[in-house]
Amino acid sequence: MSTFLNPKRTVAELKELRSFTSDENGAQRVAFTKKWVETRAWLRKKLEALPVEMHVDEAGSLWATLRGQSERALLIGGHMDSVPNGGWLDGCLNVLAGVEILRRINAQYNGKPPVTVRLVDWADEEGARFGKSLFGSSACSGNLDMSEARGLKDKDGIGLPDALKQVGVDFEGVKESGKELKNAAAYLELHIEQGPVLLDLDLPLGAVLGTFGVERHAITFHGQAAHSGSTPMNRRKDAFLAAAKIYRIAERSNGGVCTIGSCTTKPGIVTSVVAECRITLDQRHLDAVALAKMLKEAKEASERFAKEGNVTVSWERLWQIEPVLFNKELVQMCSDAIVETCGKTHRMPSGPLHDAAEVARAGVPTVMMFVQSLHGISHNKIEDTKEEHLEMCVTAFDKLAEKAVRWVKGNVMRDA
Ligand SMILES: [Zn+2]
Repeated sequence: MSTFLNPKRTVAELKELRSFTSDENGAQRVAFTKKWVETRAWLRKKLEALPVEMHVDEAGSLWATLRGQSERALLIGGHMDSVPNGGWLDGCLNVLAGVEILRRINAQYNGKPPVTVRLVDWADEEGARFGKSLFGSSACSGNLDMSEARGLKDKDGIGLPDALKQVGVDFEGVKESGKELKNAAAYLELHIEQGPVLLDLDLPLGAVLGTFGVERHAITFHGQAAHSGSTPMNRRKDAFLAAAKIYRIAERSNGGVCTIGSCTTKPGIVTSVVAECRITLDQRHLDAVALAKMLKEAKEASERFAKEGNVTVSWERLWQIEPVLFNKELVQMCSDAIVETCGKTHRMPSGPLHDAAEVARAGVPTVMMFVQSLHGISHNKIEDTKEEHLEMCVTAFDKLAEKAVRWVKGNVMRDA
């Protein structure tokens, strides 16, 4: 099959895409903009060379389908949209590797693979304009919160439903796109890591176990404003001093990660003891039990710190999502494909959410593969990956796709 696969072509196409969708500040393929529409047209041209059926679903995601002997389908996904001033690989690497795999499968099986193979370019993965990521995939999975999304506005005050209308999408019907998953038997997604783990291990590729669950809270400590000169230390009810101790629990994240991203004080003037201090706590872990434990420990600690500081504390949940574990058999295939390609693999969780998490939540067996990110940085024009690693990831991802085709075919025969 390697005779049909040309990973160098994928690298060349990524460069071609960069040449007309990036400027000196990085990639500018923000969803539903003119550049994004141009990007889609370019992608369609590439796909038109193949005997695939193409259509845009009710949520604006583009699907290309190569019909196989079975209706049961292997899905490969990514997103052509970028954040403003984004990197040249995030999202589009996945799609263009998928295009190359479609070419290989089409050539190897003379246009009729054992199972149907579909490539999807999800609409607005980044959520850069309306602040809500995974739009196309969450509409498709059924998890999109319609009442929340209906009210989203961009910085110019334009609502999401109006922006969608501009590109021919009727907001109220976006969840109809769920029917695309009807025959979905497996979902694969390749992605640049967006973190430094593989770089630090000096490994090109990793198999992703799942995406972190998230617990996001605002914690407010309530004390008492008092003059900063006349109030002795032992008489103060300083909300900030109590809140500051929370850093101690951030240090104990036990395989997860924990971030205090925001801290605001009232009255917020230089001459007053802090009466109210609000911090945000974002906790993430791949294991639901461990995440619940992190949260419980943080709550207990905050109450202890409040008591010690003679203040009170209250919690408000801002957002929450459960961990999403990928399919064990597919994770094994992904790991095997990586070992066959470069000799060594690593299994790791994903901190950021991806479209793959939505597809997995919809019940489709899913796995992701990560390729090393130089600098460990994404959503930035300096995002980069060594060319040899890019070629390697296309090769390994293709091996995974072939294993998945056979796996889906095997399941079809077993169920028949
Ligand atoms: Zn991405």
